[in-house]
Parts: sequence; C-alpha cells; structure tokens
Amino acid sequence: MQFDVAIIGGGIAGNSLANILSKKGYKTIVMEKNAEIGNKVCGGLVSERVINLYEKILDSKTNAIINEIRGAYIIFPDKKQICIGGDKTHAYVIDRKLFDNEMAEMAMSSGAEYKLKFRVNKIRKNKCDNINYKWLIGADGARSTVAKKFEMGKVEYLNAIQGEAKMNIDDDFVTVFIDKKISPDFFAWIIPTGNIARVGLATKENLRIRFNKFIKILNINVSNIKVGQIPIGMRRFYRGNVALIGDACGLVKATSGGGIYGALLSSELLAENFGNFKQYKKNFMKTFGKELKKCLFARKIFLKLNNKDFMDFYKNVKENIEIINKYGDIDYPSNVIKKFIISNPKFIIELLWKLIT
Ligand SMILES: Cc1cc2nc3c(=O)[nH]c(=O)nc-3n(C[C@H](O)[C@H](O)[C@H](O)COP(=O)(O)OP(=O)(O)OC[C@H]3O[C@@H](n4cnc5c(N)ncnc54)[C@H](O)[C@@H]3O)c2cc1C
Repeated sequence: MQFDVAIIGGGIAGNSLANILSKKGYKTIVMEKNAEIGNKVCGGLVSERVINLYEKILDSKTNAIINEIRGAYIIFPDKKQICIGGDKTHAYVIDRKLFDNEMAEMAMSSGAEYKLKFRVNKIRKNKCDNINYKWLIGADGARSTVAKKFEMGKVEYLNAIQGEAKMNIDDDFVTVFIDKKISPDFFAWIIPTGNIARVGLATKENLRIRFNKFIKILNINVSNIKVGQIPIGMRRFYRGNVALIGDACGLVKATSGGGIYGALLSSELLAENFGNFKQYKKNFMKTFGKELKKCLFARKIFLKLNNKDFMDFYKNVKENIEIINKYGDIDYPSNVIKKFIISNPKFIIELLWKLIT
C-alpha cells in the first residue's frame, strides 16, 4: 500500500496532523497499536489556547470539555496553602477519550486511513511493515520507536501515575502538592472533573509506593489507576524524510508535564511547512521551543531545592499573589517566573547564592 504520509501513533499529535494533511489532499495513514483511540492516562488540564487551537484544526467546537478551573491551591510541605486565581476561568478539564476520538473521526471523514491494533515494529527507509510512504511521522509518544530507529536523540523520563476518586473538594480549583516527601523530583496533583477527581503524581522511582503513601495522606479510595511516562528534554525534530511531533519529540513542559499544547502546535506547524522540516523546527522553536528550554532550566533549579526552600517560598509567593494572578499562564510559565524574579531580586540572589555554594 502506498501513502504520501505514514503517521505512527493515534494520540493527539497524530490525529491532529492526520486531520490537517488529509484536508490538504495528502494520502495519509495513521497506525495505532491500541484497539481504541484515546486510552491515554492524562490529567486533561488545558488552557483556553489549547481549546482554540483544537477547534481551529477541527474547524468545529469540541464537546470534550467537562470542567472549568478558576484557580489552584498550592500545598507546601508544612501544610500551609496558597490559593491562586479564583477570578475567572483559567483552564479547562477535558475528557481525553472524547477529545482524541473527535479528532480521529474528523480525520477519517477527511480521508485519512486508520489501522488500529497495529503496532509498528519494522521500520525501513520508505517502508514500515507493509506500508510504503514518502514521509514518515513519529507521533508515537514518549518512548517513540521512530525516534529510536532514526537515532533522533535521547530524553529522560518521569514515571507518572493517576487514578480517580470521589472527593469532597472545590470543583473549580486544582490542588498541587509541592513536597519532596510526596515526590522528590516533581509534584502531586488533584484535578476535579466535576463529579470525580483525578489524583496523581510523577517521579522517577518508587512510583507505586509513593502514590500509595499519597492516597493514604489524602485518606481516599482510588480506582481506575493507570501509569504513563512524561518525557523530559527535546529530541531532534527531523532527519531526512522523517519528523517527530508531540511527546515523541519531547515537546512537553518540564515544569508541569503538560504536553497537549506542544502536541497540537507541533502538528499544526509541521503541516503548515510540510516537506520543509527545517522550517517546521524553526517556527516551533520561535513559538514555543524557547519556552520549553526555559522550563527545562526551571526544572534544574527546582531539583536543587529542598522542603525548607519551598517553605521559604511560601512567604514570597503570598506576597506576590497579584503578579501570579496577573501573569500566570499554564503554557508559558516563564512569563510569571520572570515577573516574580524582577519583583524579588533579593530573594532570587539569595537563592542563587545558595544553589552555587
Ligand atoms: C499521568 C499524566 C498526566 C498528564 N496530564 C496532562 C495534563 O493535565 N495536561 C497536559 O497538557 N498534558 C498532560 N499530560 C501529557 C499528555 O498526556 C501528553 O503530552 C499527550 O498525550 C501527548 O500526545 P501525543 O499524541 O504526542 O502522544 P500520546 O498521547 O502518547 O500518543 C501516542 C500514541 O502512539 C501510539 N503508539 C506508540 N508506539 C506505537 C507503535 N510502535 N505503533 C503504533 N502505535 C504506537 C500509542 O498507543 C499512543 O496512542 C499528562 C501525561 C501523563 C502521563
């Protein structure tokens, strides 16, 4: 079978690209190892920017929004908490299964072919399994087979776990736990969906043990527990007639693990510059890649901090709540970090001094 474009992976990135390219007239195939689309473990917390981009790509409204989030509670290691936002809708929670399926169905109706339960193992130049292609796109997630096969660089991984629980919480606020005892190298979260909460954490090691401890602290019963991986670091964007998008390329914010925006944006920019992969990379780096680099730098600093530092942060965060509310943006967190640094030079100098010495 001959195709212009073979896309490996029917997640957000792959479905989105299949939509745009099939509408442009490219003969496109999506190969997905799972029997169903949208079975990915995900908090589903996204910005309005993501919803707008998604609806632009689909050229129709999504029905996958299940909750609106007005703010966040940050819980510090000594249990002190700060409430940020609260003034307006700052984010949305989506039903990932529906979100992904809407996209796949739309791509199929635009002419894209889908092969489900089709795990791609053998990839050769211009051919994978029995599919001949002109261009190959790796949209196959964090542990990308395409990236491995074409030596497109290595990334680190965080293991992530999430389940669902009935909880008596504010339905329009997410909760973030910053505590090295809960997760030594990331954070834990509660994302309300309206009738149930998504409870999870990410860390490199002892995932299940740490999660069990966390749900014990919360005193909740958790069901539907699933695990996944978050890539930390970017890979090469392309090599010859092969390009990567989404998690496969590592286009995830290292500060939050959020990758839906990167997955959608990379598919849009790749499609816009299809065939000119150099330009795709250039445009992505300009729009969002620089931000991802800043997130990687911020994560390096985060890893050097301890619980005492987090507790010292409490006072500064509380004093700067207006800045956080004004400049907070879940896709571009460096904006608020920059404003925070400008307003707290003494604190930042002390912190940097501590990190150096
Ligand atoms: C626990 C957790 C919570 C998260 N919460 C959020 C959040 O709240 N907000 C946010 O923005 N991001 C979140 N993310 C990240 C987000 O889920 C990803 O960034 C997003 O799914 C990336 O989409 P993708 O299409 O690039 O990859 P994926 O969604 O991983 O899709 C890749 C697809 O490729 C398929 N595949 C892989 N290998 C093969 C193969 N060899 N052959 C055929 N098919 C293959 C897979 O089955 C999968 O369907 C979270 C991640 C985790 C793990």
